[in-house]
Amino acid sequence: MFKVLLFSVLLFPFALLAKDSVLIEDVTIISSHHHEPQQHMNVLIDNGRIVNITRNKVTSYGLKINGSGKFLTPGIMDSHAHVSSIPGMGFGVDPMSVKHPKLTKSYFKQQPRSFLYYGVTQVLDPNPGLNWHHFTSAENHPDYFRCEVITSTHTFPYVEKQDDKSRSMFTYLIDEKAPRNGANSAEDIVQKIANSGASCIKIYFEDGYGNASQWPTFSPKTLDRIKVSAKKVKLPILAHANALDMQQLALSARVDVIVHGMWNWGEHSHAKDIPAQISNVLENIIVNKIGYMPTQRVIAGLGEVMLPNIGDSPEFSLITPKPLLNWYKTPEAQWFKEELRIGFDGMPDKSIAGVFLYGRIGKGNKVINYLNKSKHPILLASDFPGSPSFANQPGLTTYQEMKAMVDAGLTLNEVLAAATINNAKQFKIQDDYGTVEVGKIANLLLLKKNPLSSIEAWDSIDTIILNGQPIARHTLSVKQ
Ligand SMILES: [Zn+2]
Repeated sequence: MFKVLLFSVLLFPFALLAKDSVLIEDVTIISSHHHEPQQHMNVLIDNGRIVNITRNKVTSYGLKINGSGKFLTPGIMDSHAHVSSIPGMGFGVDPMSVKHPKLTKSYFKQQPRSFLYYGVTQVLDPNPGLNWHHFTSAENHPDYFRCEVITSTHTFPYVEKQDDKSRSMFTYLIDEKAPRNGANSAEDIVQKIANSGASCIKIYFEDGYGNASQWPTFSPKTLDRIKVSAKKVKLPILAHANALDMQQLALSARVDVIVHGMWNWGEHSHAKDIPAQISNVLENIIVNKIGYMPTQRVIAGLGEVMLPNIGDSPEFSLITPKPLLNWYKTPEAQWFKEELRIGFDGMPDKSIAGVFLYGRIGKGNKVINYLNKSKHPILLASDFPGSPSFANQPGLTTYQEMKAMVDAGLTLNEVLAAATINNAKQFKIQDDYGTVEVGKIANLLLLKKNPLSSIEAWDSIDTIILNGQPIARHTLSVKQ
């Protein structure tokens, strides 16, 4: 009996395909492991994985998709997106979202669909807070990876939170004075994070916004204990740091990834070109192969929220629930703009927008360009929503971050790598993700236009294939 079964499996290798196996026929494959697009390919998907890629005719399948004239790419990975955050409100535990439970609910329902709408099939959330289960329990959602945050009662971001509810989102509070392996020691907290199933640890290197320095950071001894413990359980450390001194501190703590671009040049803020102190940091990043996430949309989001009609953007109407868009127009929703106005001493909105959209973005671009010219792999990471700005909306922000890479000088091939294989390699999931190859998880995009001809092709998605299941793009919009 066993022999007969084995024989038939060998004779008809695809006779045992699941009913929902999918064939994408006559498609052009665009994937970073190929030097050139592969035309007229047939891609067979079964049980959520790619099982065959061939130019030969495939006759056995469940469902056939005509790929003629279309382009098949890996799904996009955004390695810095906060799914607990509601644009314009905060982390879902903040007073504004508590006051509007209906808006919060409708937003969280749409959010995973909006990511998929823009082709984001994997998300890494460096600070998930408490509200990520709505995301992973949605019918369709990008594959989800998370870090957990280590902070303490006297360091950022805990120290900045004013109310108990906001503070409650920090589960892993370290006691720097605790003895080795004692309760809430570095060793204890890292082990707890590993046990929670997280993929990484996030530490904030932030002593104050802009040029301020009012908050303490972890002592070098604590940072060393975290690093040694994290290495034992094979968890990479992601560092929030966007100023020169903070990135220096993060590098001396031997972190694995810096999760923000360096747009804050401190005392060199008036320099036109990259000063030596900054290029020294960048060389350190290159030599030690530290991952780098530009997160230019943080800055763009802060600038764009000060523009008068940003809430009317035509893209928003496809991915943001209408009641939330209406709320953005109310006086109450202007609270964050008010905070920015106060921060800039009542400067006109247009000038505040300019500080971000021209000044700091320009600095970030120079840094990206420097690293890219040295062939340092850039990671697609938007930090959606980046702040309580409602100018950043899920999925769209990831696409805009890809456009920002082109502005910073990346080629379309380099953007493709940043969005797919670079992130997969950085987080050691390249056996499952990052290219269109046999054996990998079938998270794929069928595009109407060639993404190596224009960046806008990433907005021409026809079908999203998520764990082997095709989803027509239009069914993911709020208008469905
Ligand atoms: Zn972030």
